[in-house]
Amino acid sequence: MSTFDLLEIICLLLPVAALSGWYLGKRSRVGVNSKGITLSSDYYVGLNFLLNEQTDKAVDAFIRMLDASPDSIETTIALGNFFRRQGEVDKAIRIHQSLISNPNLTSKQRNQSLLELAQDYLRAGVFDRAESLLLELTQSVGNQLEVSLRHLVDIYEREKDWEKAIQITTRLQTVTRQSMGSDIAHYYCELAESAWSKGKIKLAFKYLKQGLEHDDHCARISFIQGDFEKKLGRFRHALRAYKRIEFQDAAFLPEALPMIIECHERIDEHEALEEYLNYLLEHCPTISVILIHAEKVKNKQGKEKAAHFLANYMHRHPSIRGLKHLIEFHLSRVMGDVRNELLMLKSLVEQLLEKKPVYRCGKCGFPSRLLHWQCPSCRQWASLKPIQGIEGE
Ligand SMILES: [Zn+2]
Repeated sequence: MSTFDLLEIICLLLPVAALSGWYLGKRSRVGVNSKGITLSSDYYVGLNFLLNEQTDKAVDAFIRMLDASPDSIETTIALGNFFRRQGEVDKAIRIHQSLISNPNLTSKQRNQSLLELAQDYLRAGVFDRAESLLLELTQSVGNQLEVSLRHLVDIYEREKDWEKAIQITTRLQTVTRQSMGSDIAHYYCELAESAWSKGKIKLAFKYLKQGLEHDDHCARISFIQGDFEKKLGRFRHALRAYKRIEFQDAAFLPEALPMIIECHERIDEHEALEEYLNYLLEHCPTISVILIHAEKVKNKQGKEKAAHFLANYMHRHPSIRGLKHLIEFHLSRVMGDVRNELLMLKSLVEQLLEKKPVYRCGKCGFPSRLLHWQCPSCRQWASLKPIQGIEGE
């Protein structure tokens, strides 16, 4: 424990230590100094233990002191929180537990103590105990209700209990009067994937439908639905699902492009694919779309024309991925030193691309090369999006 922490605990307990000494002195008529106020002996004992880094014994002494005074409840809560912040969760639990049995607690103080104890258990990773305390608090109507519901959602997400997560999030929506349809849609996605893995195909589709009812802009539902339909060989249905992504969240359209192309090819709709790709080149000229067209130009007219096509678009939409392809188109047309220099440049660009994240969380900035529908850092749903601009799409 640092000097700064020690000072914090002294300041935290000083008023109660004085009150406690006065309270005991008043009751026993001993230990009161000439001004009528003295510090509780447990306060000195506790500090002495702290100075000697015997925090367990210090906690015992402080709990004795706090028990002696009915005015110390808020301080007891704060003392427990102090230890939780320090990472000494076992001590926080002991302190907050000592409060729960206090008969002098008002119902507001009891709820606050229960919530703090639940947060201690959460910090300790003892989710079942935290859950039962939080569920007790959901019967209350005070300030603790919203916080308790949020913690419960967090527990059910971590335990992948998606049905309970839906149930509590629905209640949270009512309490906060804010839509959480996006989160609920992702819970249904999880349920759908789980049902599919168990061979419950009808149920999996039912979950996806329910997810869309909560958030019809959830692109993940369309990805999953497209994948399910594709696995069932229903390529037209799959295509319909994948094409919906453009209108749900256009940032994810490049991710769906390979599947859209595959589905068109499976049902032999090559002209429709051509039309669709031309439409995208005009309305969503991302680097993925431009590269597909450049490849087509290469196959029909050769690498020189493909390089001109790509260079023309890259003036307006500069991109590192585009640069790599441009170098590749030029490579076959040059020899000797120029070719060697281009090879070196290509290698540098590839190394650069290998290290670059592909997705970034819009809430906390977490970078990733893999798509996570829930940010591993801030745990927000659907906050990771493909990076746009010169380094991305
Ligand atoms: Zn994040």
